[in-house]
Amino acid sequence: MSASHQLDQRARTAFREAFGYPPGAVAVAPGRINIVGEHTDYNEGFVLPAAIDRHVAVALRLRRDRQIALRSDRYGGSVALDGLPPRRQGNWGDYLLGVARQISGRFGEGPGFEAVVASDIPVGAGLSSSGALEVAVAVALLAARGIEMAPLAIAQLCQASENGFVGARTGIMDQFTALRARGGNAILLDCRSLEDEYVPLPDGRLAWLLADTRVRHELASTAYNQRRTECEAAARMLGLTSLREATADDLERIQDPVERRRARHVITENARVLRAADALRRRAPRGLGPILYASHESLRLDFAVSCRELDCLVELAAGMPQVIGARMMGGGFGGCALVLTESTGTDDVEQHLSQGYAEEFHRSPAFYRVRAVDGVMPERAM
Ligand code: ADP
Ligand code: MG
Repeated sequence: MSASHQLDQRARTAFREAFGYPPGAVAVAPGRINIVGEHTDYNEGFVLPAAIDRHVAVALRLRRDRQIALRSDRYGGSVALDGLPPRRQGNWGDYLLGVARQISGRFGEGPGFEAVVASDIPVGAGLSSSGALEVAVAVALLAARGIEMAPLAIAQLCQASENGFVGARTGIMDQFTALRARGGNAILLDCRSLEDEYVPLPDGRLAWLLADTRVRHELASTAYNQRRTECEAAARMLGLTSLREATADDLERIQDPVERRRARHVITENARVLRAADALRRRAPRGLGPILYASHESLRLDFAVSCRELDCLVELAAGMPQVIGARMMGGGFGGCALVLTESTGTDDVEQHLSQGYAEEFHRSPAFYRVRAVDGVMPERAM
């Protein structure tokens, strides 16, 4: 049984145990890696994500009244409400309530519902547990209400919920990937036009390994918003709506040295995404190596979002002959490093990273070996 089927079963069983009857709809959505293209999505640039074999499942049943009851295998207790609240509650339930509000806003207020979340995506590690949760609840709730919606529109609805209701200013990459991904492929996504193209990932001779620092520095969310503001300021300085239109020649016209460095990261990172997609199209995945390392350096120096733990993991990986390339992944200040390695070397790489990391930080990283899978499983209404 596949990992997503197992999770589907877990959510069903947990729902039945919690409420005493089976769910009306279940949806299972994957987390994601991003091969390259960090902090480019909100600059209308390019990203290159792939869905991974880690999922969130949501089992859900509509009620006859307006009441809402939510449970999760990750959090104790339950969220219970008399109806959809107008504002965020400040807990994990917001990810479901925000999506439900978006759906109600577009299609008319629906009845209350009961939902159970089951997941094997580590939370807050940069693998998009939040995007997977939003997409799973959207697909399950739409199915339960008998509403059809195009994948792109669902992704936008989920993003609107995360931005507006939860209050995190994130781009559309996570939700788009959870909906549209195809096994064995990455998605080259143009975040300006929202055009996408599948590009084939390497075969089993190479493997993706995530090394989780297991740290999340306080700085993360304030720095994220600050970087967005700096990028917007740089674009304004150039008279552009976003840094997507900027080129390397524009850089000297940005007076503020910090904004200039931020812009340089975005411009060079967009170019790296296109080069990476090209290497994959040409079935030359080893060409990703220098691109991954260059992305890390740009994030570390120009965008200033790395941290000692991430740098340590990337340096350790770079010292191994089995490793093709590595970089920090996600918003920064913690979370995971993404490592592309020869499959036969994965055990050695884990051991080397574990040892080197423990020597410096007196704790071990967590490892996830992931492969590229399909997007959200079509919900099955029962
Ligand atoms: P990431 O998306 O990188 O994992 P985020 O901070 O964007 O990290 O989202 C994590 C949040 O998503 C959690 O704090 C929680 O509110 C919600 N979440 C993720 N997984 C679950 C789950 N299984 N059950 C309930 N809430 C979840
Ligand atoms: Mg997230």
